[in-house]
Amino acid sequence: MYAELDHNGNIASSALENLAKARELGDAEAVALGPGATEAAKTLGEHGAKKVYASDDAVFADYVAQPAAYALLQLVQANQPDMIIFGMGYDSRDIAARFAAANGSTVMANVTDVLGADKAQTQIFGGTKIVDVALAGANPKVVITRPKSFEPSAVGGSAEVEQISVEIPDNEKKAKVAARHEEEAAGVKLEDAKVVISGGRGLLEAKNFELLEQVSKAISGSAVGATRAVVDAGWVPYAMQVGQTGKTVKPDVYIAAGISGASQHQVGMKESKRIIAINKDPEAPIFQISDLGIVGDTMKVLPALIEELNKRKG
Ligand SMILES: Cc1cc2nc3c(=O)[nH]c(=O)nc-3n(C[C@H](O)[C@H](O)[C@H](O)COP(=O)(O)OP(=O)(O)OC[C@H]3O[C@@H](n4cnc5c(N)ncnc54)[C@H](O)[C@@H]3O)c2cc1C
Repeated sequence: MYAELDHNGNIASSALENLAKARELGDAEAVALGPGATEAAKTLGEHGAKKVYASDDAVFADYVAQPAAYALLQLVQANQPDMIIFGMGYDSRDIAARFAAANGSTVMANVTDVLGADKAQTQIFGGTKIVDVALAGANPKVVITRPKSFEPSAVGGSAEVEQISVEIPDNEKKAKVAARHEEEAAGVKLEDAKVVISGGRGLLEAKNFELLEQVSKAISGSAVGATRAVVDAGWVPYAMQVGQTGKTVKPDVYIAAGISGASQHQVGMKESKRIIAINKDPEAPIFQISDLGIVGDTMKVLPALIEELNKRKG
């Protein structure tokens, strides 16, 4: 599997999720490229990687995707794996696509389960149907998994680390990172939050998202999400969107306030452990997947919830 690192050497959560699956399927080996790769190999080993091919070369962080795809190609020719599992991070899927095109590999994206070296599962029709897909064509098959498809777990152990050194030709260094702008992140990341409070059009106007911020402030480890309808309306940034074309979340508790529960939204949150919905329409589809449904006006229920939470916080 390909273990995506950021330019500081932090391992993407998808890498640890995918390792949990890869080690179930057989001997899992990981590739980590860029500054911090050797250090990252320790964590990858703890999560079940038997072997890590690592290079700390800055070329992998300084140039977009091409060098990593080129290095993977060399590694694959030497080691002949059956399958490579990638996460859905921006860099990771870029590298997957470039590698697959160069190698002639069959690619499957949006994978929700890997069933074997040539079989994977995905959801279609907005998550309403699950299909098993047989992958034909050249090895290695390339699969790109949806975030949160597997539960990461440390099993102890350490990986054998093989330092790799690949000379990257100039024509594989065409897209150079010119500047980095860090997204300002206040509080917990949406994907990592234990409690997600999301709002939809039923919040009536942008300024009412403040109510969700207040709920979030009262619950530690929580974050605020949104539907595409309100992102498209410019109420909140795209980074907050949950769903098919946004983020996938799997918190302990998901609170959907003024959200109808369209299948494209559900696909990004229906695996949450507990779902609480607030909607004034008792027929809203969100109630079909809710553990607790509150038929009511967001403008009345949310202030009451905030008051109660603050009272309990003392
Ligand atoms: C290709 C494609 C991809 C998409 N990707 C996504 C995606 O990633 N994420 C996503 O969210 N959507 C996505 N959508 C859009 C999706 O189909 C829905 O349009 C969207 O999720 C609806 O958002 P909503 O629930 O905020 O709005 P609506 O569907 O308009 O629902 C608003 C709800 O609020 C309730 N309501 C109104 N007033 C109140 C009140 N005062 N109190 C309580 N309840 C109230 C209403 O009863 C209603 O149920 C996608 C669509 C397509 C075609």
